[in-house]
Formats: sequence, structure tokens, C-alpha cells
Amino acid sequence: TETKFDAIIIGAGAAGLMAAMTAGQSGKRVLLLDHNAEPGAKILISGGGRSNFTNREAPANRFISGNPHFAKSALSRYKPADFIALVDRHGIAWHEKTLGQLFCDGSAQQIVTMLMKGCRDGGVTFRFGTGIAAVTRQSLFHVKTESGELFKAPNLVIATGGLSIPKLGATGFAYRIAEQFDLPMVKPEPALVPLTFDAPDLPLMRGLSGTPCEVVATAGKARFREAMLFTHRGLSGPAILQISSYLRPGDSFTVDLLPGANAREALLATKRTRPRIALRTALAEHLPQRLAHALAPEEQAPPIGETSDKVLSALAERVQQWRLTPEGTEGFAKAEVTRGGIDTAALSSQTMEAKDVPGLHFIGEAVDVTGWLGGYNFQWAWASGFAAGQSV
Ligand code: FAD
Repeated sequence: TETKFDAIIIGAGAAGLMAAMTAGQSGKRVLLLDHNAEPGAKILISGGGRSNFTNREAPANRFISGNPHFAKSALSRYKPADFIALVDRHGIAWHEKTLGQLFCDGSAQQIVTMLMKGCRDGGVTFRFGTGIAAVTRQSLFHVKTESGELFKAPNLVIATGGLSIPKLGATGFAYRIAEQFDLPMVKPEPALVPLTFDAPDLPLMRGLSGTPCEVVATAGKARFREAMLFTHRGLSGPAILQISSYLRPGDSFTVDLLPGANAREALLATKRTRPRIALRTALAEHLPQRLAHALAPEEQAPPIGETSDKVLSALAERVQQWRLTPEGTEGFAKAEVTRGGIDTAALSSQTMEAKDVPGLHFIGEAVDVTGWLGGYNFQWAWASGFAAGQSV
């Protein structure tokens, strides 16, 4: 069997498949390895099985990174429109949900099938279902598999992703390779992840478990208006997943439960016009009833007409600037992505190649570039995979 290639790509997820397809179709001899027996495990479960495969717009400000400029080059050379054109060429029907998010009409399997066909058209060799025993660098990179084969190439592309969802095959392989070649790292942490809370907030959240509401979640300059969901451990839903990516341990954030409205004025108006209704009833005109009742718990409280403006203002502030400090997150088992990873300072933004280790590339989630929820993480995988695929 052939053992020498132009490029060896480790990790047949979103980024690795794109890199392999791109390099293969430009005439390079490519080997694509994965320890999973099947490629694209995360693509298959993404977007609830329909894959939110990109977003209409993917400007660099939708990505979190130690260097916010790093992603610009790759993102500008492989745009959402390029991936949409690829999907269209394969006759895959898709639709836009909210906020520019694009999903398959059928199934995420169509995306994996498309990328695998692209790899086959490019003559890519596959070795799936075998782990990597060792990587060394002589004049070429040597990659030894656990099944005992040895492969060699001048280019090695690490596309093994981050630590999110170990049961789908996520490992810290990319970080070990970075360490082996002395590349700096930004500490990997769970991101796009549900938040957990302690007392005093938890009992209220647990009592509301399953209740959705639209909110604005804010942490510093980050601000997301999307749905939030109470859970038996705390908070989840898109607004919370988004804000989680911006929080460090111990950070607090605020939630506005009544976006676009003025709770204080609304309560004061009700006090004037309908003084006899209960406070909780007045609140329930603006919030889901279970939530209103949780925030104004006393059934026997005096009617709103007998409630002081000061109490109403405090309640309004609780509704619109609810300050929360999570106890933690639900961790890598539930995190949709990993924040942090290979420090971009060590990589070329044009090619994803390590500046100090010619031929060694890192792409996708392994790199310290983390997208918002909404198709951005795949767009980064496609764009960085394309950049490396062209470079090798
Ligand atoms: P991955 O796709 O994770 O691929 C890494 C590959 O490397 C895997 O095939 C793995 O088996 C292999 N590998 C790992 N370790 C080793 C090893 N030691 N040896 C050999 N092979 C190894 N993003 C979106 O943009 N839209 C979505 O709708 C979306 N939905 C998601 C839903 C869920 C539940 C999750 C967990 C994530 C979702 N994401 C979504 C995020 C997105 O899936 C990832 O950001 C993206 O897959 C990263 O691509 P990647 O190629 O870098 O890594």
C-alpha cells in the first residue's frame, strides 16, 4: 500500500473533510485519518439532525479569539456563499431559520455525504476506525496508526477538534500535538454551554424548569436577544449558550426578561389605571405566568394600588436587570464547542500553518477561534479547512 502522501490530515470532521476535499481536488495525494469508524459524527447530530451548516453572514465579530483579527483572512477567502454554492451543486435543499441560520431541509447526512463524495472525487485515501499511535517529524512527518501502519508526508493537518462531547469521539489530541511541537495554547474551556446555579437562584430556576422566554442576556459588550430556558440545574437556551462563551469563572451577567419594554412604567401605569389587581397578575400580563408568579410569590400581597412605587421599581429592576452569577457550567459533556485551543499567535492566518514548524497545520475547533451559535462554527471549520487544503 501507498505510504507516502503530500498531506496527512488527522480528524475527519467538518474541517478535516473540507481540507481533504480541497487538497485532493487540487491534485494532491491526501490521506484522511480518524479514530471513529465513520466521519463527521458532529455534523450528523448538529442542528438537531438537520445541521445548521452555515450562516448567511459570517463577519469576524461573530467569533471569539485571543486575536479577533486572526480569522478574517480565511473567512474572507471562503465565505458562506461558497459553501451554499457547494450545497446547491449537490442538490441539497435548505432553508433559513432565524438570524440567518441555514439548515438542510432533509438531513445532516447529506452534508457528510457531499463532503465524502468531494474527497473521493479528489482521490483521498481514508483510514477510519484506527487511532494514532505516534506522530514524529524527521525530514517528513511520520504518522503511525494503532493498527501498525506508517504513513509519511511533508504536510500534517491536525483537525481533531476540541474537547466537547467526549462520547462522540472528542479528545485532546490537537493539544497534545501542540505541546509536542512547543506551540502555545489558550486554555480550553466549555463554551456554548448551559449554566448551572446555586442557591439563592437555583430553587426559582428549578421551579420554572422547562419554561422558555425571550430575553436579552448581557455581559460587558456581548449582548444577545434570543430565547432562554429554565432547567433543573439553572439556565439554557440560545441566549444563555451565547453568553456562556463570554463568561470566565466567577463572572456575572444580566438578563432582561422584558426586552424592548419598560417594566417600571408598565407597572406604574397599571397601578394608576387598575389599582385593584394583584401585583403578580399585573406582572403576568408581561411575562409567562409561572415566571411572574415566581418573581412575585406572595399570593396574599396587597393589590398593586397599595404597593409603593419603590417596591414596584425594585421589582421592575429585577425583571429587566436580573444580575446572575453562575456557579459553573454543564461542562464538556454538554458544551457545543470548546473555547480556547492552539494560540493563533503561533499560526499563519493565511494557511493555518505553524510559523515555527513548516508543514504542520491546525484547523477548525482545535484553534483558538470560537463562533457564536448559529452556523458560525461550521463556517470556521469550512474556511480554515479550505485555507489549509489550499496550502498543503
Ligand atoms: P470535529 O467536527 O469535532 O471533528 C474532529 C474529528 O477528529 C472527529 O471526527 C473525531 O472523531 C476526530 N478525532 C478526535 N480525536 C482524535 C484522535 N485522537 N485520533 C483520531 N481522530 C480523532 N456548529 C454549527 O456551526 N452549527 C450547528 O448546527 C452545530 N451544532 C452542534 C451540535 C452539537 C450537539 C455539537 C456538539 C456541536 C455543534 N456545532 C455546530 C459545533 C460544530 O459541530 C463544531 O464546531 C465542528 O464540528 C468543529 O469541526 P472540527 O472539524 O474542528 O471538529
